[in-house]
Amino acid sequence: MKERPHSGTPFADAGTVARPADDDRFMREALDEGRRAAEHGDVPIGAAIVRAGEVVARAGNRREVDADPTAHAELIAIREAARALGRWRLEDCALYVTVEPCAMCAGAAVLARIALVVFGAPDEKAGAVRSAAELLDATWMNHRPRWRFYPLLRDEVERLLGEFFATQRKARSDAD
Ligand SMILES: [Zn+2]
Repeated sequence: MKERPHSGTPFADAGTVARPADDDRFMREALDEGRRAAEHGDVPIGAAIVRAGEVVARAGNRREVDADPTAHAELIAIREAARALGRWRLEDCALYVTVEPCAMCAGAAVLARIALVVFGAPDEKAGAVRSAAELLDATWMNHRPRWRFYPLLRDEVERLLGEFFATQRKARSDAD
């Protein structure tokens, strides 16, 4: 998987939003949110919104605890960032998320005018950035966030997910 070649967006200069040197720090913030999601029985995916080198919002997946099919980490973090900044345009913000966003969340990043999306592991089945679809590169979108895959914490992201699903399977088999 490669970062998109620089045919990219004319709308945002990702370098002003979050430097690759900061990816480790912000991806770890997202991972922490993922860990917290697991504590309430949610698939451990976490997200952080970064502006000018600071985290302005963070969230974990809350689909189970809120019984809300749209309560993905990215969507909640985008809403909280918009509320914190008092505006819906997040064109100076980067979205860090542990797993490649789905179609809904990639769409929300476009609608929010997010400048940059960084994800920590691909989702081969449903990822809508690179794997199953390439929504952030869609030429019919009126805004195209830049994106990059940050691979150095991929093992941690996938281990967290693996442990979560193993625990779920064990709980189910114990209940039988
Ligand atoms: Zn999603």
